[in-house]
Amino acid sequence: MFSLNIINNINDFLDIYHSSLLLKVVVLTFLILISLCIGSFLNVLIYRLPINESLTKKNSHCPKCGHMLKWYENIPLLSYIIQRGRCRGCKELISIQYPIIEFLSVCAFIIAYSRFNLSLETFLFTLILQMFIVIFMIDLKHQIIPDSINVVILVIGLLSLIIPHTSINQMMSINYIDKIIGFGVAILILIVFLLLEKLLNKELMGGGDLKLFFGIGLFMGWQLLILGIFIASVIAVIVEMMKKVIKSEKFLNKVIPFGPYLVMGFAIVYVFGLDIISLYLSLFN
Ligand SMILES: [Zn+2]
Repeated sequence: MFSLNIINNINDFLDIYHSSLLLKVVVLTFLILISLCIGSFLNVLIYRLPINESLTKKNSHCPKCGHMLKWYENIPLLSYIIQRGRCRGCKELISIQYPIIEFLSVCAFIIAYSRFNLSLETFLFTLILQMFIVIFMIDLKHQIIPDSINVVILVIGLLSLIIPHTSINQMMSINYIDKIIGFGVAILILIVFLLLEKLLNKELMGGGDLKLFFGIGLFMGWQLLILGIFIASVIAVIVEMMKKVIKSEKFLNKVIPFGPYLVMGFAIVYVFGLDIISLYLSLFN
């Protein structure tokens, strides 16, 4: 009864939400501001997770001079613009990475919202995209995907099992069984890779990549998991080919791990999966 009441209340709220422009503007502004703040936290994750620095430790500081940031020097995007990208302590340039990540965090919400409107799926998908940003940056720099991020994605995958089926799941008729099979496929891929690596005696795919498949399999179902890995491989091949064409020393010597490709592949299939599949089918009709 209690949970039914909550669902009724949510539905009532959504009815008002869709009919009131003012409420829409207020709610969206609020959610965009929250996404900006989360973007700020993503920067903390990207910086601190690989070096095992505590996340709860307060007082952000300038990595160059150690200048402790006041609250007004720590406002997402705004502080960077007002200070013209320089530390107020040492006047050194602040990495452009910080405002870019904050901006991308907002983009994550806008992409999810434009696809799934105001729904639980939008929140889960926004969170997944934000975790993708963290994976992209950390894997590119440090060639690892932290277990803690994979755990968050696994939890989102589990949560997606209990939310009512909406939008993309319905459109693509991905159901609970597909999601459970997705988890099974992740186990299968893990076993195959472990056997292959034992046989060939070398690492073929990072352990973090393989662990990522569990949460993604649950969240997206086996169809999109496999399609996502395929798209990631295509992007990886294109980039490697570009490396050969461009012949820039710096670019050639840069080893790009598979994680960044994977998160791009998964983001693409979840946003455009339906279009990709219908395009594929139309080739045969
Ligand atoms: Zn400084």
